[in-house]
Amino acid sequence: MKVHHLNCGTCCPIGGHLFDGYSTGVSAHLVCHCLLIETDNGLVLVDTGYGAQDIARPRDRLSRFFIALNRPQLRPEETAVAQVRRLGFDPSDVRHIVVTHLDFDHAGGIEDFPNARVHVTAREKEVADERKGGAFVSRKRYRPQQWNDAANWSLYPLGGGEPWFGFDAVRDLQGLPPEILLVPLAGHTWGHAGVAVLEDSGRWLFYAGDAYFQNGEIRGDHRTCPPGLRAYQRLMEVDAAARIANQRRLRALAGQQSDAIRVFCAHDLTEFEQLSRASRQHRGAT
Ligand SMILES: [Zn+2]
Repeated sequence: MKVHHLNCGTCCPIGGHLFDGYSTGVSAHLVCHCLLIETDNGLVLVDTGYGAQDIARPRDRLSRFFIALNRPQLRPEETAVAQVRRLGFDPSDVRHIVVTHLDFDHAGGIEDFPNARVHVTAREKEVADERKGGAFVSRKRYRPQQWNDAANWSLYPLGGGEPWFGFDAVRDLQGLPPEILLVPLAGHTWGHAGVAVLEDSGRWLFYAGDAYFQNGEIRGDHRTCPPGLRAYQRLMEVDAAARIANQRRLRALAGQQSDAIRVFCAHDLTEFEQLSRASRQHRGAT
């Protein structure tokens, strides 16, 4: 399986390094890290960032609150569908989409791939569909207009499954090879899950979605997180204890299994640049 790393949505919230820990100007820089996986059964997209319709009609699709807070750049060339085409594929080649959760910055591209089956935890679909009348953040974060037209869903329970490096994994994703696993990581949302992908090298890629937001939270001697990202994670969390417990498990995994597993998250620019550069170099060398 060949894995492409795609940034499907640069965001530039105000705050510079106080928000992201590394930007020098007024704006911070975050990515929407997605994966495009070439399998024997067609293409699999993991998370979808912002989609073509978000860019054409942002006010209809996204909340004003999060447009102002996150300042998504909404560049057509960054959509997954544009990048799929640039890689020489047709959007209809994308047969499966696995989403970590249904937040606006992960679900925006779903409807750009009408042939795809969407895989997500049942709990996430349930809370996202029930957003009406809910709390402020849940009405703003979940935008059913981003996925209402998607017809084919595979929904998975949060519990059970087989163990995987100390996590409970759902191994059988309908129609997908066994090298792609959905790994429940609740806390950021009720049904949030990571996605593990076994690369041909025998090493796992573990995409943790929004279970953490910055490299320093799971690597280094001491946990670090800039104040802006700390505040954003608190704003968005639904279960603080579960989120922190899962972050601790990810930290232990990244430290103890660094030879076997590469853990990364959705919005860290540094992690994205490292992984996309490494996969391009690997591809150039083979
Ligand atoms: Zn996110």
